[in-house]
Amino acid sequence: MNHAPTASGESVKFTELLDKIIFKEILKGLKLTFTHMFVREVTLQYPHQKLALPDTHRGALCLLKYEDGAERCVGCDLCEAACPSHCIKVVSAEVQDGQVLRRIATSFDIDITKCVFCGFCVEACPVNALGMTKLYEYSTDNKRNLIFDKPKLYEIGEKYHSEAKAYLVAHNQEKADETAREYRYKFPAYVNGEAVKTEAKKEPAAGTPKAE
Ligand code: SF4
Ligand code: SF4
Repeated sequence: MNHAPTASGESVKFTELLDKIIFKEILKGLKLTFTHMFVREVTLQYPHQKLALPDTHRGALCLLKYEDGAERCVGCDLCEAACPSHCIKVVSAEVQDGQVLRRIATSFDIDITKCVFCGFCVEACPVNALGMTKLYEYSTDNKRNLIFDKPKLYEIGEKYHSEAKAYLVAHNQEKADETAREYRYKFPAYVNGEAVKTEAKKEPAAGTPKAE
């Protein structure tokens, strides 16, 4: 099909010719490149450079201990009940510790492949035994490695203790002062209805329920 000649046909051709002579497209590209030489970089060269994550970041879960090394978790199963993905499995038991009967978690497993990192389990825990860290580099070619058992969760808790504590503070579950070193509540040990005082026992944080 033939196109009808336009009145400005010749000037259009001249402009196109001029663009080709002065390499206009290349100049436009160079201009863009030059402009970006003065723009702040947003790309990080991961893994050599890493993003600074906020304390609220929901990374790998961990279990925490008291200052005296005692496990915080009392195997109450509240985290398991709160989990929308049903990826937590807690098995608890009562153990006789001298005159004191204690409840502990004998096993604690989290299937990280199912976890959606909602943080509900951390919120549900009455003793802040769970925390979230900024750890996110645990990809593996064997998904069985992503079942975090109790030793693994405590290992992460030891290694990333400050991050887990910062998470609890950032989510208003603990205070950032001296009391942050302690639990918001530590279940007292009872013998015949009487609270047993042990050296490890610490005063609960201000504003938390006290033992009768
Ligand atoms: S972060 Fe959410 S999905 Fe993951 S274990 Fe906790 S409650 Fe379940
Ligand atoms: S982590 Fe907390 S909520 Fe879960 S079983 Fe232990 S004490 Fe209960």
